Amino acid sequence: MNYFHYQDEALLCEEVPVAEIAAQVGTPFYLYSCRTLRHHFRVFDSAFAEVPHIVCFAVKANSNTAILRTFVREGGGVDIVSGGELFRALKAGVDPGKVVYSGVGKRDDEIDDALKAGILMFNVESDQELETINERARKLGARAGVGLRVNPDVDPETHPHISTGLKENKFGINVEASLAAYHRAAALKHLDIKGVSCHIGSQVTKLSPFTDALARLKELVRRLREEGNAVRYLDLGGGLGITYDREAPPHPSEYARAIIDASRDMECTFIFEPGRVIVGNAGILVTRVLYTKGNEGKRFVIVDAGMNDLLRPSLYGSYHQLQPVIRREREKITADVVGPICESGDFLAKGRQIPAFERGELIAVMSAGAYGFSMSSNYNSRPRIPEVLVRDGSCYVIRERETREDLIRGEKIPDFLNT
Ligand SMILES: *Cc1c(COP(=O)(O)O)cnc(C)c1O
Repeated sequence: MNYFHYQDEALLCEEVPVAEIAAQVGTPFYLYSCRTLRHHFRVFDSAFAEVPHIVCFAVKANSNTAILRTFVREGGGVDIVSGGELFRALKAGVDPGKVVYSGVGKRDDEIDDALKAGILMFNVESDQELETINERARKLGARAGVGLRVNPDVDPETHPHISTGLKENKFGINVEASLAAYHRAAALKHLDIKGVSCHIGSQVTKLSPFTDALARLKELVRRLREEGNAVRYLDLGGGLGITYDREAPPHPSEYARAIIDASRDMECTFIFEPGRVIVGNAGILVTRVLYTKGNEGKRFVIVDAGMNDLLRPSLYGSYHQLQPVIRREREKITADVVGPICESGDFLAKGRQIPAFERGELIAVMSAGAYGFSMSSNYNSRPRIPEVLVRDGSCYVIRERETREDLIRGEKIPDFLNT
């Protein structure tokens, strides 16, 4: 469900023709629908209405402060994985009491900033991290809320690069070791143990990996409570998948039903860290065809967006639908849609059946709202592209196109090279 659709032959974002926005801001650019963002947040949040819960949007999926603010206004918290994400979330006005901090490699300065901000909890991924957070909290005269990130060893059946809950992955503490880790944490004076957490992977399209992980966590919570530990929060991470092509992931309401039914009598506050399912289908990437050509029987459509703008196809071989911004009857061809970057891995689609796109035409790369702009880079010295938000018939540039000067900001030519 989203608000990108055709009227007559023109693709609209809500009520605004995408071609008009392209004429105003130039290409390429990211385009988000505010109505879709809110709708997705509300669907997810209301699915858990019958249990105490906090929806902590995973900032890494889309880190724009206007997008974060949209969810903050809906009562959302955030899941962060760096000091930079904490900075963004605070700028967006998030309630620090709804911030959870995940990630295997938290630096001392990042921990200090999160302690000073008074976040809800750190999802801790190792014994050394427990000791470190305790020590930083002692120095600052603070108490740190912590949850242990457990690796439940379940197969999320997703792409290996986005699977995180298998025992060979770098994330979390394995279930057997987590009891001992809890005992150590309980002995550390500046820690306040708040709960347990897990995150099994991303773009998960079945319910069973989530319920399997929950069953393992439940058992751990039972044992911890038997020992007299208060376990208030149960953080089940993110990972619910979306439809890029033909995937049929569970609806958030089915996901919620399964979780709620499997956790009766647990008496805890749930935390969820959804990213992709909230923003993925709320954004597109709009690009223009620069050239078309044929080489040795292969056809190429060369567009002005590259792997630096949208990395997912190159990184994971991900599928994104390609739609004409202005539709018309025409022949279909099989082609590679590639960017201008000097890498053979720079493509948006390979061997894809597509309309015979022509030079100058606009293409919408669908489902690009998650892990799109947030993974972009300046590779090949390409300025990062703008982000535009549509709301109620108006569009707002929520991040300007970078300039050439932005490309060299902070660079210095030392004096010895000038003499
Ligand atoms: C990436 C990540 C998420 C969000 O994952 P989605 O698949 O986008 O929902 C949530 N929690 C943690 C710890 C993550 O690393």
